[in-house]
Amino acid sequence: MRAPRARAEPVLRVSRIVHPVTVLGPGRRLVIWVQGCGLACAGCMSRDTWDPAGGTGLPVTALAAACRGLLVRGADGVTVSGGEPLDQAPALAALLAALRPALRHAVDILVYTGYETDEALRIGAAVLRHADAVITGRYDAARPTRLVWRGSANQSLLPLTGLGRRRYAEHLDREADPAPLEIFPDGDGLQVVGVPQRGDLRRLETGLAREGAPPRTVSWRPARPTPSSPTIPPSRRTEERDHA
Ligand code: SF4
Repeated sequence: MRAPRARAEPVLRVSRIVHPVTVLGPGRRLVIWVQGCGLACAGCMSRDTWDPAGGTGLPVTALAAACRGLLVRGADGVTVSGGEPLDQAPALAALLAALRPALRHAVDILVYTGYETDEALRIGAAVLRHADAVITGRYDAARPTRLVWRGSANQSLLPLTGLGRRRYAEHLDREADPAPLEIFPDGDGLQVVGVPQRGDLRRLETGLAREGAPPRTVSWRPARPTPSSPTIPPSRRTEERDHA
C-alpha cells in the first residue's frame, strides 16, 4: 500500500516586504507586496510587480515566520498590496490564516485588489474572510482622487469586519492633499511607497534630476529591454501613459 502523498506547502510569490509603513492604511503597518498582476492598468506605478515569474517564491510557513519577526516590533495593521493579491488567493489565504493568531486584538488586515468588488468577492473569498477591509477596483488614470489610500475615484474602501468598521469609518470619505508618500532605500535604488496623486511622480523625478540624480528606470514606465533585464510580455504591455 502506498503512503499518502504529503500535500505541497503553498508558496506565495512576493515582490517585497517593508515595516513599518505609515502611508498604506492607518498607523504603522507591515506591508507585503505580492508579485504578479495581469490586469495591466494604464498608468500603474508598480509595473515591476506585473511579471508573475518575478519576485521571490516563499513557502507560507517561512514567510509567516518572517512576518511575525517584524510584527513583534509593533504594528497597527498589515497591508497586502501588489501586484494582484487575489491572483494568488490560496497561498495568500494560508498566509493570513497563519498570521492572524499572532496579531494583537486591534491589528487589522487591509487587502488591495484591482478586481472590482463583485469579482473580488468571488475570486478572493478565501482571502477576504481573513481581511478587515479591502480596497477594490482597477486604477483608472482618468479619474484622479484625493481620497486617502485610493489611486482613482472609482476605487472603493470597504470595511469587512467590526474591527474594520471601527478602524476605517473615519477614512471612507477622508481626503489627503498632498498624498502621504514614503521613500525607502531599495538595493541601489529607491522605493516610493504610498498612493501618489496626479503629478507627484513627475515632480519626484524632476526633483531628483535637479539634485543631479535622475532615475535611470522607474517602475511606472516600461523598462527598456536589455539582455540582462527581462521584459514584460508584449501581450501585457499597455500604452505608455504616466499618470503622474
Ligand atoms: S494598478 Fe494594481 S491592479 Fe492595476 S496593473 Fe497595477 S498592480 Fe495591477
